[in-house]
Amino acid sequence: MIDRPLSVVKELIENSLDAGASQIEISLADGGRRLIRVSDNGAGIPFDELPLAVKPHCTSKIRGLDDIYYSLTTLGFRGEALSSIAAVSHLTLTSRTAAEELGGRLEVSGGALVRHERDNLQPGTELEVRDLFFNTPARLKFLKSRQSETSQISTLLSSYALAYPEVRWSLVSQDRTVLSTTGDGDLYGVLLDLLGSEVGEKLVPVDFEFPPQAVSGYISPPQYHRHNRQRQWYFINRRPVGNKLLYKAVDDAVREFLSAGKFPLGAFFLELPPEEIDVNVHPMKREVSFAQPQGIYSLLRTAVSRAVGQTAAARQRQLTRGLAAVIAPAKFPGAAPADDPGSDPDTPPGFQALPLYEEGQALPLDPAAPPAPAGPPPAPIDFRPRPPAPTAASTGQPVSVSLGIGQPVSQYTAPHPSESGPPEVGIGMVSQIGDSFLLAATNHEVYLIDQHAAHERILFEGLYARLQAEQRGGMRQRLLFPLIIELLPGQAELVQAFGPALTALGFACELGAGPSLVVREVPLLLAGRVTVELVHGVFSELAEQDTSTLLADQIKELAASLACRAAIKAGERLPPDECYALVQQLLSRRSSLSCPHGRPTLIRLGVEELRRMFLR
Ligand code: ADP
Ligand code: MG
Repeated sequence: MIDRPLSVVKELIENSLDAGASQIEISLADGGRRLIRVSDNGAGIPFDELPLAVKPHCTSKIRGLDDIYYSLTTLGFRGEALSSIAAVSHLTLTSRTAAEELGGRLEVSGGALVRHERDNLQPGTELEVRDLFFNTPARLKFLKSRQSETSQISTLLSSYALAYPEVRWSLVSQDRTVLSTTGDGDLYGVLLDLLGSEVGEKLVPVDFEFPPQAVSGYISPPQYHRHNRQRQWYFINRRPVGNKLLYKAVDDAVREFLSAGKFPLGAFFLELPPEEIDVNVHPMKREVSFAQPQGIYSLLRTAVSRAVGQTAAARQRQLTRGLAAVIAPAKFPGAAPADDPGSDPDTPPGFQALPLYEEGQALPLDPAAPPAPAGPPPAPIDFRPRPPAPTAASTGQPVSVSLGIGQPVSQYTAPHPSESGPPEVGIGMVSQIGDSFLLAATNHEVYLIDQHAAHERILFEGLYARLQAEQRGGMRQRLLFPLIIELLPGQAELVQAFGPALTALGFACELGAGPSLVVREVPLLLAGRVTVELVHGVFSELAEQDTSTLLADQIKELAASLACRAAIKAGERLPPDECYALVQQLLSRRSSLSCPHGRPTLIRLGVEELRRMFLR
């Protein structure tokens, strides 16, 4: 069924793979509408058989009964693809087998043979499909934008690249290389090519066996995530699939670290006995069903939980949770509500009392201490530790222990900033520790602050959350001299794709000669912080984004990227007044505990917690 460029590409690369190609190149013009070219170095087609290849129901592939059944229920008869493509396009097929000295060329237009002649060629096959659907305007109408067709094809290709890492793939669209792999057979290498080295190098292997089932692959640590599933790939027995149950298994496995709507990046390969899966579904939709869904769910979920549990972020999160359980299992007063898109929903509604100490180390507090009493606490802030995390044992982490600090605090009232105006913060001295952390105190509490995370949070909220509140405009700074940034190949398209998002965030910029980006105004919050390096850094991150995402997602992605790169770094020594200003800003805004990448920003110790810590 040839309904769009995507299905043409799929058929052609399947043929190339069938022909044993180790190198497959795809070129597109106008999203495949004007041209789809697939060249391979496979077995080739003998000169005399070229006309047969484009005849209906002609196949050189004799397959087993299973395959006939499969074809009947899915694609229709074998040997149909090339003939159906030839019927709705101008098709040129050139090919040479290794045994021939010359190859041949066959041209077909709208199904009619135009030419069949000898040609001097390298071994292999090239299919050129021009003006797809030129004679079927109805189907032409259903095609989407060039960008959308291209991105569908690039998504398809990325799954083939992962399923066949031993093949050297390349996809070129409008003379720009969208995707290329080395073909050295290394799955990890393909992921590096697909995700970029910044994320790629942080990937964690997924490796879990439950014979006869197994899961392998890689997943990103939680701080690298997307707002969609476009960087997640699922395979069953090396066939790309999409399946809600598998999605849910991964989502649930990372739920502890990532809120709904955020997706880790990764590739997951399930090896399952054939009787476990039902492939009796249209393969273009890549759907499968399972004989025992629950078992498959647990398999993948366990595999992913274990992998993610190994990441530094997870360990850090546990540590913070442990600390939080000891000191302040509450949200920062005035924290943004959970549905605020600017807040980091990774911060759970309450912290779980996971142990603060490494496995095997003795806990200084009495693990037999009475558990937290039930019932609503009268305190304005919820200090109750949560019941032990039920997932702790299943993720291979040490089992939770009550730290014996479960009594509700009734007398204590924290300085509770009202949401209407800045709270009375009243901070005394602020010290910088290790050029990376800030220590501040009021009469009531002590704060430990990660300076980078805090500043990032402030910038992100300033850029993004205020935008949500419709406070657009006004807060820009016009640059005395416009910043001119030379663009690398491909970046001009990025600027165009993200133009509306840049404008929404308060940039005024345009494409200049070269091509270059001319920045005339920047958001006031970023005044003095927008540099050439910053812009290039942001672009390199955006380059692996799908440009067809919604504007709202683009804005959020862009705001997060800008905030992270423009923020004060860890290791930067700050003058005392800046330390002070940073703490003041952080404490006075409706802010959540985490930076947009999910790390904690602030740890708070109240008088009550100090008392408990000192066992008073
Ligand atoms: P099928 O793949 O089901 O056999 P197709 O219509 O896709 O049917 O292809 C028809 C025939 O053309 C194939 O059986 C094969 O012999 C030949 N063919 C198509 N593409 C290639 C290729 N890239 N390399 C070698 N042979 C090819
Ligand atoms: Mg085929």
